[in-house]
Amino acid sequence: MILEELTMPEFEEGLMRTRSVYIPFGSVEEHGAHLPLSTDTILAYEVGKKASQQVPLFVAPPVHYGNCRSTSCHPGTISIRTATLASLLKDIVRSLQSQGLRNFIVLTGHAGGAHRLSLQDAGEDLMSELPDIRMAVVTEYDLAAGEGREIIETAGDSHAGEIETSRILHSHPHLVKGSSPEEYPSFPAGILVRDKRRYWPGGVWGNPAKATAEKGKRLEELVVAKVVELVKALEEFDA
Ligand SMILES: [Zn+2]
Repeated sequence: MILEELTMPEFEEGLMRTRSVYIPFGSVEEHGAHLPLSTDTILAYEVGKKASQQVPLFVAPPVHYGNCRSTSCHPGTISIRTATLASLLKDIVRSLQSQGLRNFIVLTGHAGGAHRLSLQDAGEDLMSELPDIRMAVVTEYDLAAGEGREIIETAGDSHAGEIETSRILHSHPHLVKGSSPEEYPSFPAGILVRDKRRYWPGGVWGNPAKATAEKGKRLEELVVAKVVELVKALEEFDA
């Protein structure tokens, strides 16, 4: 059930089928020269839509903006502060909870360190504040890294490389504009860098040349299956 497309009566009927909601988080962030800025959002939303075809599940409208540090100097990246991100999650969950939702699956397509931590922190705060909710905060990587390794050839592929390019080639091929060179940036250890683009000129981490739509299809199916499992596990979890 895609929340943004439901009517008021459809929402009420949906509550009789499930109290679980999937909230996709993404980013507006450079993804090399060949993938759209909203890649993370598109992927997270797509997984939720497909999962909701297999298990009763509300899918909330995606949160398009995220906290992006290492790409903040690259053209097109629009980053929000971690405090803003945490507030967004808290307000959305509080409102959905007041509407009757109880099980919250937060999947973020953007896996930046500070971004992930702020969502986890906000989730912990919500668990204390709302005693009747259950929450999961995950990335696709958390769910599918083990089995996904059999599909992907590039070691250390993480941003606009083999994985993300394959996924977009599968689900949104019209948004892929050619390819970008293979790249593995190296930032100075421990030193905060002002001009981040200098250390990461192409904005890719991995190898887009290894991407295929077929790999994207297999990866997407794997992540969707893991989300369906997670929904069922969360609904039975004694929090
Ligand atoms: Zn991404």
